Amino acid sequence: MLEFELMTFVLHQSTETQPEIVETIQGEGVHTGVPSFFIRLQGCSVHCFFCDEKETWINRENNSIEAETDEIIDQLEIMNSLLKRVVITGGEPTEQPVAKLIKALQAKSYEVAIETAGTGEYTQEILDNEDLFVTFSPKEIYSKSSSIQDQRIWSRADELKFVIANQEAEQYLLQQVLPKLKAANNSCPIFLVPDWYNQETTKGQVLVLCKQYPGHFRMGFQLHKQLGVY
Ligand code: SF4
Repeated sequence: MLEFELMTFVLHQSTETQPEIVETIQGEGVHTGVPSFFIRLQGCSVHCFFCDEKETWINRENNSIEAETDEIIDQLEIMNSLLKRVVITGGEPTEQPVAKLIKALQAKSYEVAIETAGTGEYTQEILDNEDLFVTFSPKEIYSKSSSIQDQRIWSRADELKFVIANQEAEQYLLQQVLPKLKAANNSCPIFLVPDWYNQETTKGQVLVLCKQYPGHFRMGFQLHKQLGVY
């Protein structure tokens, strides 16, 4: 008997027949350098201007492939049965019933992390799942179409990753992000990540913020991009 519910998910398609499931290293945050599978779910309504995964925006039309929970897990085991860490990313993973996928992976002893912009609905299954690592990357400031509906994400986040892509981002960080985390009594690490495509300016902004507010922020970087791996 299966230990988890069978369910179909829409994944980003990496080749004509294969869903995007990649074995690589975690490139950001507190788990930087840790070998991990990345499962990229299709669909994101946030539409940040700096997004380097724009092909995940269109759901169920182009570039997507359906896979059942057991097919996803089989694929992981074929790729590397020794690796037991999975990062679910997107797109925006919470635009699909991702709690079921998390539960299925955990039932098979995978350590699971999720990367979210906080725009989805956070089911109790996600909020109460203490074994799940949540990377929250608020993007409202960069999105005309999405906002954070479920404020519980501010207390659930295990780390916060905030992309600095323009001057307005600083205001949002200081006037929204910090007060909301404080109100949620969450002292998780906050990584400030310079927008990769505008590093000349954004790297300097991040350095200044880290120096001006010691104890609040860490400089974030994207090791996978710097190394040129997935
Ligand atoms: S939330 Fe992530 S996937 Fe969605 S548009 Fe922004 S950067 Fe791209």
